[in-house]
Amino acid sequence: MSKDPDCIFCKIIAGDIPCFRIYEDEDTLAFMDINPANEGHCLVITKEHAANLYKVSDAAISAAARSAKKVAAVVNAVVGPDGINLVQANGEGAEQSVFHFHLHVMPRRIGDELKMNWGHHPGDMERIKALGEEIAAAIGD
Ligand code: AMP
Ligand code: ZN
Repeated sequence: MSKDPDCIFCKIIAGDIPCFRIYEDEDTLAFMDINPANEGHCLVITKEHAANLYKVSDAAISAAARSAKKVAAVVNAVVGPDGINLVQANGEGAEQSVFHFHLHVMPRRIGDELKMNWGHHPGDMERIKALGEEIAAAIGD
């Protein structure tokens, strides 16, 4: 499986950088976004290093879709948003900032007026940690 030693998400997969992990299987890892657009914002990443949608293998994107379905259902149950968007960016013009394939699981609130360029504002780490533990426990694997 390809890795990039300079990639922050590859470092998270390797355990060299910590994350608030919520789910993991052979091909994917899910963890809380530390700059959440809304409460419960998390990421599903492929374990394969691929910069974007054009590079990711069919097997890896299929695994990411399966994990995102599972994670989104649990985030929906635990966080209770009014809706959830799956978002995936490719290229700087799409505001991609980490060039390792990932899906954003983004809880939405009616009237939150969230825009595609939501900005990266650090969240309350204690709250993110607690919510991550709750989601991880609810996923249960
Ligand atoms: P994108 O801008 O679509 O490439 O998404 C990258 C996401 O990764 C952003 O929402 C960042 O907040 C998030 N991110 C970057 N570094 C970390 C990290 N160490 N732990 C959790 N989320 C991160
Ligand atoms: Zn990577």
